[in-house]
Amino acid sequence: MSIKVDRNYGNWTVTGPPQPYIYVSQLHGNTVHRKAWKVPCQCKCGRISMVNYQNLRRGLSTQCVACAKTRTGQIIAQRHIKAAKRLTAFGETKTLREWADDPRCTCVSVTTLYNRGAKFDSHEKIISWDGIGSQRKLTDAQIKEIYSRNGTGEAGRSLAKEFGISESLVSRIRNGTRHADITGAGDRAL
Ligand SMILES: [Zn+2]
Repeated sequence: MSIKVDRNYGNWTVTGPPQPYIYVSQLHGNTVHRKAWKVPCQCKCGRISMVNYQNLRRGLSTQCVACAKTRTGQIIAQRHIKAAKRLTAFGETKTLREWADDPRCTCVSVTTLYNRGAKFDSHEKIISWDGIGSQRKLTDAQIKEIYSRNGTGEAGRSLAKEFGISESLVSRIRNGTRHADITGAGDRAL
């Protein structure tokens, strides 16, 4: 078991070792007794509770019921649900919390990672996207190609899509406000 005393899970602090408990459930019409684990925890507000081990480990329980009913409690709970979301990239499956600590990750905030998920369809890109720097991923050859193809009448929109850049960057390359050193756009005006 990876649950350790004094460790925090959201607003919970673990106060003791996990304890087994037996519960009754139905399986194909038969009554069966199953074993699970509960962990003694104390919420930030002081309330004490036995929390289901799996719910604690997976970030599904982060605080007592009373705190969960408050606005702050809801924000905390949402953050932990995001942090516990699993993502497979580079052949590994980890939670967003773990990815945020991964050296390949370009951000440290779980919320940022989570929000990127809505923007990108590549999981690797969610983790390693370097923001503004993505525009610099164009090679010199690609910049020249965009410049010349846009110059011979190819639509900025389709070029933007093909190279994964914004339409405004295509026009800035075209008019020489970006990468003029590579395209020689400045010379053209002379
Ligand atoms: Zn509480």
